[in-house]
Amino acid sequence: TTALSVKDLCKTYSGGFQALKGISFDVQPGDFMAMLGPNGAGKSTTIGIITSLVNKTSGSVSIYGCDVDVDFFAAKMHIGVVPQEFNFNQFEKVGDIVRTQAGYYGLDKRTAAERAEKYLKLLDLWEKRDESARMLSGGMKRRLMIARALVHEPKLLILDEPTAGVDIELRRSMWGFLEQLNASGTTIILTTHYLEEAEHLCRTIAIIDQGQIIHQGSMKKFLAGL
Ligand code: ADP
Ligand code: ADP
Repeated sequence: TTALSVKDLCKTYSGGFQALKGISFDVQPGDFMAMLGPNGAGKSTTIGIITSLVNKTSGSVSIYGCDVDVDFFAAKMHIGVVPQEFNFNQFEKVGDIVRTQAGYYGLDKRTAAERAEKYLKLLDLWEKRDESARMLSGGMKRRLMIARALVHEPKLLILDEPTAGVDIELRRSMWGFLEQLNASGTTIILTTHYLEEAEHLCRTIAIIDQGQIIHQGSMKKFLAGL
């Protein structure tokens, strides 16, 4: 099955602004896809709809064969999301944030604790587990968001501008981490407005402009045509 299938997605915000004008694309299992486009193109809106954080006006979204409108919970289990803004409770402890998320996905306490340990260690945050999240640096908060998004081991991980405002050193280490995750079988989609990031990491690319997909295909072919 297709990892992600998006068909004819439209979004008109409550103010009347038409942010998406019929977006369609498929992502195959194991792919690492970049969604590239200028500010305001519709990337966050698209991701918001795929992850059920934004209501669509029309169209359909299917994740590993589960239509988000029909099999909401099954679709949710297949997907992990790293939003742009830090949206965890800053006053909660780092370890609790990840364990609580595992609970939302129905994992029992023991599995939740094991997964939290696994992903906090992978993201080099295990030593910080008993600290309040507000004490973390910006880069650590970003890594906490990734650990939290992986705790239910989703087949598809979506990251919205994961390295925006991140220094070069952390960017390189995050790139390495995402490459390993993809090599171990996780399908990844990220939005970025850095072509350099997309070029370094991704096998395929979809370019969004003014609420429409203006190009989709292999990264190599895209770069050859520039
Ligand atoms: P909806 O159509 O989903 O009801 P709202 O107008 O209620 O959208 O806005 C939801 C959120 O998006 C609010 O937090 C608001 O501040 C933010 N928002 C509103 N307008 C814009 C905009 N033009 N660009 C980005 N974010 C916006
Ligand atoms: P991108 O992620 O590519 O920068 P967005 O999806 O955030 O683009 O925004 C697409 C367009 O929709 C922009 O023009 C933005 O101002 C508008 N927009 C985003 N959120 C809202 C909202 N909640 N209400 C009204 N307009 C919005």
